[in-house]
Amino acid sequence: MKISVIGTGYLGAVHAAGMASIGHDVLGADIDAAKIALLAGARPPFFEPGLPELLQSATASGRLAFTTSLREAATFGDLHFICVGTPQIVGSDAADMRFVNAVIDEMAPHLKPGSLIVGKSTVPVGTAAALQRRIDAVRGPNVIEVAWNPEFLREGFAVQDTLHPDRIVVGTAGTAARETLEQFYSSLIAQGIPFIATDLPTAELVKVAANSFLATKISFINAMAEVCESAGADVTTLATAIGHDTRIGSRFLRSGVGFGGGCLGKDIRAFRARGEELGAGAALGFLAEVDSVNMRRRVRVIDLARGLLDGSVAGRRIAILGAAFKPNSDDIRDSPAMWVARRLHELGARVTVHDPEAIDNAQAYAPELTYAREVETALEGSHLTIHLTEWDQYAELDPTAVMRLVDLPNLLEARNCLDVESWAAAGWHVTALGRSLKNRPPHQSGPGGLSMTTIPTQIRGEQYA
Ligand code: NAD
Repeated sequence: MKISVIGTGYLGAVHAAGMASIGHDVLGADIDAAKIALLAGARPPFFEPGLPELLQSATASGRLAFTTSLREAATFGDLHFICVGTPQIVGSDAADMRFVNAVIDEMAPHLKPGSLIVGKSTVPVGTAAALQRRIDAVRGPNVIEVAWNPEFLREGFAVQDTLHPDRIVVGTAGTAARETLEQFYSSLIAQGIPFIATDLPTAELVKVAANSFLATKISFINAMAEVCESAGADVTTLATAIGHDTRIGSRFLRSGVGFGGGCLGKDIRAFRARGEELGAGAALGFLAEVDSVNMRRRVRVIDLARGLLDGSVAGRRIAILGAAFKPNSDDIRDSPAMWVARRLHELGARVTVHDPEAIDNAQAYAPELTYAREVETALEGSHLTIHLTEWDQYAELDPTAVMRLVDLPNLLEARNCLDVESWAAAGWHVTALGRSLKNRPPHQSGPGGLSMTTIPTQIRGEQYA
C-alpha cells in the first residue's frame, strides 16, 4: 500500500523504514528539515541499533522517500500514520496536542477522499473522536476516517519491535477501516502476531494502560528499595525472590534510579489529567504515587552523593556514567542521569558526564556540564563515580584498572546491574540503591559475597525528612 508517515522522530522514522521493508511504499514527512535531509540520505537522525541498515535497504529498494511537505504527504497514498510528539504541557500534567492538531489542520484540505488517518502517537482517550470532528468540519462527514493504532516499540529495540511486535492493536469506528489495517499488516499477522481490533477509545487506552502498568511495576520495586534501605535489607535479592512467582515475573523488577525518557513519565501524568477530566480521577490517583516514588529515587542519589563526600558535593569531582535515559539509545528526554548530573552541578560539584551515544544531545541540553568522550577521561581524578545508565560498556569496566584513574574509589551504583562484588573486592567503596549495606571494610566479603559500606544515618534522615 502507499502510505505517509508524519513525524519522523524515534517512532516515525523506524515505522517508516520498517513499513517500507515489509513492502509498502512510504513517504515520511517532518517539519524538521535537518532531520529529513539526513533521512533522505538514508542516515538516521538519532542512535537506534539496526536503523542505519534498515534505512539503507528500504531506501535502496525505492520504497522509502522523505519530504518536508505535509501537502505532498497528504496526496501520497491512502493511509497516513500520525507519529508526531505529544509532550507534557509546561506547567500542566496534560498532553500537548498542538502538534497532532497542526498536522490534521494542514493535511485535511488535501487528503484524497476515502483516505484513512491512522494515529500512532500516544494520546488522551477521546482524541481520535475529536480529530474526526475536526476533519469532518473541513471535509464534511464520511470523507476521511480516523483510526488509532498505538505503538509499543521500545527505544533500543525499535527495529525488532516494529518488524516483530508483541501485538498489533487497532481502534476503528467501522469495519472498513479495520479491514484496511488488517490488510496493511497482513505480513506481520501471518507471522502469528496477535491482531486486536477494537473501538477507538479502547485502542487509545491500551497504550496508556500498558505504560501505567510498567511504570507502576518499576515504582513498586523502588518503593521496596526505600523500605529495604530503612530495614537493612537487600532489594535485589527481594526482587529475585518475588520474581520467581510467575504471577509477578522478574521483568521490569530491577530497582534503581527509576524510569525516564520521552514516554512513561509524561504518559502517566497525561493519563491522570485525562482521568480527572472524565470524572475518573480517583481510579488513577495511584499514578501520582508512582510518579513521586520515581522522583524520590533521583533525590536519593543526590543525598547519598552528599553523604559519601562528607556532607557536601561542592567543589568535588563527580564522574557520571551515562546520560541517556536507558542504554542503546541517545535519548536524554527526562533522563534520570541528566537530572542527577544537573542537580549535582547546581550544588557546586564538578561533574563530568560520559555516555557512549548521548553526549551530543546531552551537551545541547545542558551545556553547563563537562562531557567526556572516553569513560577514562570522566573517571580521571574523580572523588565519586555514579553509575546511572546500564550500558554494557560500564558492566565491562575492569574495576582494578579504572581504580588507578580516580582520586577516591567511591562507587554509587544507581542501576543495580554492575557486579558490585568485584568492584568491592578491587577496593572500591561501593554504595548501591536499595542494597543491604553491611558495615564491612573493603576486601572483606561476607556471606552474601558483598563488601559494602553503611549509609550514614544522617543521610537516611535526609532522605525521609
Ligand atoms: P520525537 O520528538 O522523536 O518525534 C516527533 C517528530 O514529530 C519530530 O521529528 C518533530 O519534528 C515532528 N513534528 C512535530 N510537529 C510536526 C508537524 N506539524 N508535521 C510534521 N512533523 C512534525 O517523538 P517520538 O519519541 O517519536 O514520539 C512520538 C509519539 O509517539 C509520542 O506521542 C510518543 O509518546 C509516542 N511513542 C513514542 C515511543 C518511543 O519510544 N519514542 C514509543 C511509543 C509511542
